Amino acid sequence: MLKVISVRNLDHYFGNGSLRKQVLFNINLEISAGEIVILTGPSGSGKTTLLNLVGGLRSPLVERSSSSQSASLRVLGQELYGASAERLVQARRRNGYIFQGHNLHGSLTALQNVKMGLELHQYIELAELETRAIQILEQVGLGNHLHYYPDQLSGGQKQRVAIARALVSHPQLVLADEPTASLDSQSGRDVVNLMQKLAHEKGSTILMVTHDHRILNIADRIVQMEDGRLMSPTPAVIS
Ligand code: ADP
Repeated sequence: MLKVISVRNLDHYFGNGSLRKQVLFNINLEISAGEIVILTGPSGSGKTTLLNLVGGLRSPLVERSSSSQSASLRVLGQELYGASAERLVQARRRNGYIFQGHNLHGSLTALQNVKMGLELHQYIELAELETRAIQILEQVGLGNHLHYYPDQLSGGQKQRVAIARALVSHPQLVLADEPTASLDSQSGRDVVNLMQKLAHEKGSTILMVTHDHRILNIADRIVQMEDGRLMSPTPAVIS
């Protein structure tokens, strides 16, 4: 099966000189199209760093030492290890990101914010753009808040608008960092259902950092990180 993500022998460091600290150690991970993979583990274990590297939000450090000769970070068929800044930007644009802190445009309504997630896709007709944006907002339980501005929405509602914006273009790869952390049970379930539907119906691949036990049962695979290392994968928990 097509590998959407293929990470081989990847290390990562922060800082320079005596402050240099290794935070990822020889990461090897393969994720196939349509898989939902959850990355879990203690705070500081390197989950966000790995997610950011896969998403092209952080440049992999290209080391000339022997251990990293064979390092590779292939995402959607593109090699990001050693890639130029321009290539990383291109790679970034293809993905759907769900991070904490939503980054909604304050001067745009919920609907307008979500439509922005589709604007890169020029082939979509205006009417369809509107329909899809409304549909996805309904799916995250915000059908009655289409014309609300971010400062009229609660933290959880803003998070759901950001999620709708990230998913409306049906990205091939969705990267999410604690997507349900600020959501109540019902909203969390709506978001999880939406992601599951995207994976099953559109073949999207989802890599998500979470500690939320409510989500664990949608995973095809749960991968544990500890101290910058991937532990052997555990089978998905069915609760
Ligand atoms: P997690 O997501 O599992 O909490 P992170 O990937 O955020 O872990 O962090 C892994 C390690 O890298 C931690 O020790 C953290 O302090 C360090 N780290 C993360 N980002 C930076 C940064 N920008 N500069 C320096 N150190 C960082």
